[in-house]
Amino acid sequence: MQRLNDVGELRAWRAEMRREGRGVGFVPTMGALHAGHAALIARSASECERTLLSIFVNPLQFDDPQDFARYPATLEADVQLALRNGAHAVFVGAKEDLYPPGFQTFVEPQGCALPLEGAHRRGHFGGVATIVLKLLCLAQPERAYFGEKDWQQLRVVSALVEDLALDCEIVPCATVREPDGLALSSRNARLDPFSRHRAVAISRALGAAARAYTGGVRDRARLEAEMLRVLAAVRELEVDYAVVADARTLEPWAGDPRPPRALIAARIGGVRLIDNAALDAPPVGPLAL
Ligand code: AMP
Repeated sequence: MQRLNDVGELRAWRAEMRREGRGVGFVPTMGALHAGHAALIARSASECERTLLSIFVNPLQFDDPQDFARYPATLEADVQLALRNGAHAVFVGAKEDLYPPGFQTFVEPQGCALPLEGAHRRGHFGGVATIVLKLLCLAQPERAYFGEKDWQQLRVVSALVEDLALDCEIVPCATVREPDGLALSSRNARLDPFSRHRAVAISRALGAAARAYTGGVRDRARLEAEMLRVLAAVRELEVDYAVVADARTLEPWAGDPRPPRALIAARIGGVRLIDNAALDAPPVGPLAL
């Protein structure tokens, strides 16, 4: 596996792939890799001739400087995980390289970027869209792999690619969970055992909503109340939102036949966690608990 240390090396690698006629799959991440990222890398490796991973903790998408400062960094372990899962190259980004002095162009997504995470984390999706567009321009992949764990981000990135006519297919990948249902996240490492144990209420609440929906409930308020009932059982959990939304627009679901998405953001033990699930299938695997 090749390690690409700056934008120049990334461009050179991409040019080499083009000369060799090799298709590229791309997995952008912020590092602190876990089995969720591994699934994205392995999927790309199984579908594309060459897989490029990027690791860059993007300061532009953090609304909370503390959250940025505390973001876990595990570079050597990340490189090993990437290698084990079939990546061919890893680009390790530096802030000064991706945002050099004089950097002045920012993407400002609208529509599905405005509610939920967009409302709770000002500027977050602008930061995401700006770095994703820049990385897609540099990597020029045929396919880019994103996790459904960050459903709203997946929608924002899909709209970015569609609206700006980028020549890249966005491939959604299912959320990887712990056996008890908690969605894997780099932030889980910051949960103390007490909070870790209780954080499972989030996936349980999603499971409860999916059970109600597949059982015939079509009233948004009732579905949301079902989630809040499960979440309220954990006193330490502070809920930012627990909503049922249109899966595409992220607007409150109006009861139309298109199956909605349930999305939750909550804080526990000083860690903010997000998760989501489709409601049209009965909960399976860890979500069925
Ligand atoms: P991050 O490093 O957290 O920015 O995530 C990089 C990519 O991995 C994003 O596309 C995420 O949606 C995806 N991802 C993170 N956690 C999971 C998970 N538990 N299952 C599947 N994909 C994930």
